[in-house]
Amino acid sequence: METTRKNTMQFLPQMPPSRALIGGAWVVTQATLNVESPSNGRLISRIARCQASEVDGAVRAAADAFSGRVGAWSSWSARRRGEWLMSFAAIIEADHERLAALECVDTGKSVTQARGDVGACARYFRFYGGAADKLHGETIPFENDFAVMTWREPYGVCAQIIPWNYPAQIFGRCVAAALAAGNSVVLKPAEEACLSVLRLAELAVENGLPAGVLNVVPGLGLEAGAALAAHPDIEHLSFTGSPETGTLVAQAAAVHHVPLTMELGGKSPQIVFADADLEVALEAIVWGIIQNAGQTCSAGSRLLVQREIAEVFLSRLAERFSALSCDAGEADADCGPLINARQKSQLEACLERARADGVRTLACGRLAKGASKEGHFVVPQLLVDIPEGHEVLREELFGPVLAVQHFEDEAEAMVLANGTDFGLCAGIWTRDGGRQLRLAKGVRSGQVFINNYGAAGGIELPFGGVGRSGHGREKGFEGLKSYTRIKTVAIRHG
Ligand code: NAD
Repeated sequence: METTRKNTMQFLPQMPPSRALIGGAWVVTQATLNVESPSNGRLISRIARCQASEVDGAVRAAADAFSGRVGAWSSWSARRRGEWLMSFAAIIEADHERLAALECVDTGKSVTQARGDVGACARYFRFYGGAADKLHGETIPFENDFAVMTWREPYGVCAQIIPWNYPAQIFGRCVAAALAAGNSVVLKPAEEACLSVLRLAELAVENGLPAGVLNVVPGLGLEAGAALAAHPDIEHLSFTGSPETGTLVAQAAAVHHVPLTMELGGKSPQIVFADADLEVALEAIVWGIIQNAGQTCSAGSRLLVQREIAEVFLSRLAERFSALSCDAGEADADCGPLINARQKSQLEACLERARADGVRTLACGRLAKGASKEGHFVVPQLLVDIPEGHEVLREELFGPVLAVQHFEDEAEAMVLANGTDFGLCAGIWTRDGGRQLRLAKGVRSGQVFINNYGAAGGIELPFGGVGRSGHGREKGFEGLKSYTRIKTVAIRHG
């Protein structure tokens, strides 16, 4: 662990503090925000605290770059944009260890997971780079004396507001797609964790991305985030975060009729039938809730298990939970800390309320001996005996907590699966082909995984929610389309 910690820390002094990327230049802000390690509470960096004036400068720079007033972005062909994106993927891969170290120390996630996230970020750039010159409109049969076609055009300035749980991955998902489609970007990363994003932006500038095409304005949600969402010159807004903040952002953007993609929270069910491959299901269910300490929008945070196998399956699951260890990201344990003290105290208060309501912890993990007392750790927990409609079944807890319910048959499983306002993902575990399809059709969610969960991140797979999980799609080719709008051109040729 000590070696990994040293490797991780060596990159931090190289992080230039408190800067925003505006119009291709790094701008130092007066005000700064402290960044503390979730694993031990130590100060690890200071980031810029951008205000409305910096956000305004960034939007103007992005508009200039898009229009061609400054720089040459608008004159780049789709193929050339794609080639830049693919070359950037290789740059990310070459900086992989440093980026992963920053992501690990900043978010508290394990080094192994941080490495995977950085790899996914590079894959987004390669995927969207390859797709850039394959996106096209259509021709439409209309009246005989007309030729009608649709063009897919970039919006212009895309605003992107992203959270702290997967900074590198979500940077890749949003920025690569928007740039591939020919937009310019102003990105507001989360104040809690954005060191990898700053490093990625630095690499983009060093590797020839024209000035103003990508702008990064770190700061507080209520300052930089609110100023960006309300800016009259943004033409598209992609928000990833909580449903509550999503509502505020959508209200601000509605003033200027800005189109939105909303990637919000989840309370996704894992539905296990008696005929499933229970060993495979077990591992996927454990990973689905402990990865990133449960702070994952698509976490499988509800387990619906068929009553006839409940006792056996839960006893196996309890064994796995009891063996889970919680430690600093650098220690590469099963589960890291929560992002900050606020998240930890909110989750602990919720668990206390649950206990008072009769909810029982069937099994829980343990804190590693060397874990810092200043780290924001909550050990993984398996909750049973939960009263119907309880908040631990309805609300996104954003921690390593799995809430268990039982069902008799397929019909009841469907009702329970659809029993929340969220609808991001669902895992269905059964060998019965008919049942797989019936449930996949009936479950109200943006993604359904059958006999697997999360499909290893699946950057190629369209992703997004229904209901309180949001609307619009990122990832895959659908994500690229989201960053374009259709223009219909009708030519009367007589
Ligand atoms: P959050 O909503 O608090 O913050 C998200 C971003 O919004 C941050 O950059 C923050 O600074 C900014 N923000 C906060 N207030 C704002 C305001 N008034 N105006 C504009 N911007 C503002 O969310 P969080 O706690 O950082 O992230 C956790 C949430 O994100 C969870 O609900 C999780 O499920 C969700 N999430 C969703 C996805 C997805 O793809 N669906 C991915 C990751 C996280």
